[in-house]
Amino acid sequence: MRRVIVLGGGFSGLLAAWRLHQRGFEVQVWEASDAPGGWARTLPWPGLRGEPGFLELGPQSLRVARGGALDRLLAELGLDLRGSGPKGPRWLGKGGKRHPSPASLTGLIRTPDLGWMEKLRLLAEPFVSRAPGSEDLRAFFARRLGEGFARELLPALVAGVFAAPPERIGMETLPRLKALEARGGLLIGGLRAGPEWTRVPAGGVGAVTAALAARLDVRLDRTATSLAPLPGGGWRVESAEASEEADAVVLALPGGPAAVLLRAAAPEAAGLLEAIPRLDLRVWHSRHPLWPGWERGFGLLIHPPEGGGLLGAVSFAIGDPRGVPGLMQVRTYLGGAYPVASALDAWPGVLAALRRWLPELPEAVQVREEPCPGAFPLLEPGHGARGARILGALPPGLHWLGPARFGPGLPDLAEGVEAWAAGLTSG
Ligand SMILES: Cc1cc2nc3c(=O)[nH]c(=O)nc-3n(C[C@H](O)[C@H](O)[C@H](O)COP(=O)(O)OP(=O)(O)OC[C@H]3O[C@@H](n4cnc5c(N)ncnc54)[C@H](O)[C@@H]3O)c2cc1C
Repeated sequence: MRRVIVLGGGFSGLLAAWRLHQRGFEVQVWEASDAPGGWARTLPWPGLRGEPGFLELGPQSLRVARGGALDRLLAELGLDLRGSGPKGPRWLGKGGKRHPSPASLTGLIRTPDLGWMEKLRLLAEPFVSRAPGSEDLRAFFARRLGEGFARELLPALVAGVFAAPPERIGMETLPRLKALEARGGLLIGGLRAGPEWTRVPAGGVGAVTAALAARLDVRLDRTATSLAPLPGGGWRVESAEASEEADAVVLALPGGPAAVLLRAAAPEAAGLLEAIPRLDLRVWHSRHPLWPGWERGFGLLIHPPEGGGLLGAVSFAIGDPRGVPGLMQVRTYLGGAYPVASALDAWPGVLAALRRWLPELPEAVQVREEPCPGAFPLLEPGHGARGARILGALPPGLHWLGPARFGPGLPDLAEGVEAWAAGLTSG
């Protein structure tokens, strides 16, 4: 039996520990905060009269591809999953108006942001050949879907999901896109890969990390402060209150804390990890009286820089058990790689900016800000080479996992961690 200490009790660390446990390793997870889950946590947010209600700190739902690693994990954990059902309106805010979102086929056909030649160009996608070398997201989409799509529509789609301009994002952020391209393109590859569903576990996204943590030995309030090699092999990990030895240590931490721990044992890896930029998101949660027609939830993505740092907003469907009955629960994103106008520093400014696109949005009855400092790493073009150097600079017995290695989406993390664990043996 080999002993492993996993540092970081977010989705990556908990899943790594679970896969190691299944392979016969003796595993302990150290988590700095007083609860497991990292960003993948569902927090209580009662209504004004104390009604039960919740908010999601990170992902609001899960994109699940049938037969993928996340699908397998959810099945193993036996979680009660709900589909999101038909969705309400989805919009793109651009040129001072809101248009149908181009994230669907009908939205693409109806969008006023592309001319008919640019719409025809989309149909050529299956015939576009692959490009050698590393690419940024803008170059990838301009090549596959045309310059018009990349210029007029892509910036809002990307800002609303990755909080940065497409030209600053390397393809390492979305490994699935490269995989689809290898299978014949976005359209053909997508058809071959099969459909994806939006799923929410009963109890919220945080139910996934809570279920993992319940099956594992997780030590909370335990911040790893030092990591040192043992003379006969293996590692000593220390926190203010504990000092333990292990055959291997898994760093499932953001780059900053990982770099601090690696500074003495692996200075090159520490320097490379420290150099990965991280995006700070500002997220406002608000509850409003229901606006008719928005019962199934709405989505709004804003073409940057028109929002002055406001990236978009999304609401729960009205029957979502995480919300308070009778109220619409909205989540508004700001920041990331975009500077935020000072008028958006407080809720009244955020509401005024939202109403530029959503004039019907009623006054909020409840608001709460949940800042997300260092929400996720910015994997710039060429990041893959940096990731390979980090892995090459780690001494034996140290492992590095997480969004900067596999991409920030939970499906990519699930695939990456599963493949990593499959390469290990406990003997
Ligand atoms: C607002 C927001 C929205 C998002 N939306 C989506 C989405 O829609 N879909 C999607 O797929 N993904 C989304 N993500 C991204 C996804 O949530 C993250 O990529 C993922 O949760 C990262 O998990 P992780 O375990 O790698 O890191 P983290 O969640 O950051 O966990 C790292 C853990 O390490 C702990 N830690 C730090 N230092 C130490 C130390 N020294 N010792 C011990 N523990 C330590 C931290 O307390 C933390 O719990 C979103 C993220 C945010 C913030």
